Amino acid sequence: MSGDSRKLHPSVLIIGAPGAGKGTQGKVLGTVPRFFHCACGDVFRSLDTRTELGQQFVEFSSKGELVPDEITIGLWKAQIDNWIETYHYKPDIDILILDGIPRNEHQAKILEDYLEVHQVIHLTCPDREELARRMRKRALKDNRYDDASDEVIAHRIDTYVEETRPLIDHYEGKVSEIDATKQPVEVLADVIAEIVKLDVYREMAKVVA
Ligand code: AMP
Repeated sequence: MSGDSRKLHPSVLIIGAPGAGKGTQGKVLGTVPRFFHCACGDVFRSLDTRTELGQQFVEFSSKGELVPDEITIGLWKAQIDNWIETYHYKPDIDILILDGIPRNEHQAKILEDYLEVHQVIHLTCPDREELARRMRKRALKDNRYDDASDEVIAHRIDTYVEETRPLIDHYEGKVSEIDATKQPVEVLADVIAEIVKLDVYREMAKVVA
């Protein structure tokens, strides 16, 4: 592990129901210098499904359930360390944009050892049917089998409500509510407006890399 990775990583979390647009927003931000996007679901999907870890991911995600916390954090940490060692993610100058992790309070507590959370972007979309519509569309486009069946979609949304949404209270005082039902580009404008207000952003922006 490099020296940098031992410090708390400056982070912004994107929290929202499946289909709210976390990945869409996170991906765009990740293309901007001084930001690094990590989508936990993408880390899982990049696993070889012939491996034990890959099989565990398929087992849980195909039912719309969360992968157990220890497995998740272990994989996430290994991937972050790998990105640091290969100079993709530079924690001394990049703000880490986390999408899909933490997914519950236990994960949030474990991550306190690694992250300094500066802001939580809560993408709100109270309409379950709209979330389901977006997931069905994504299933066709991106070959996401966990978004393909109505039963799994419903369970994914329930899992979010029961396990992930309580994080909004957990991070009270750091949460920006953003209406995710707007057009993606308008949501992006709102997300960026929140991020550029942050002291950590202003500090990082001064660094010439
Ligand atoms: P996502 O692409 O974020 O919707 O994640 C797809 C699936 O990956 C989820 O339904 C979970 O099975 C698994 N997953 C992703 N992130 C996590 C996490 N932080 N904790 C547990 N499971 C996760």
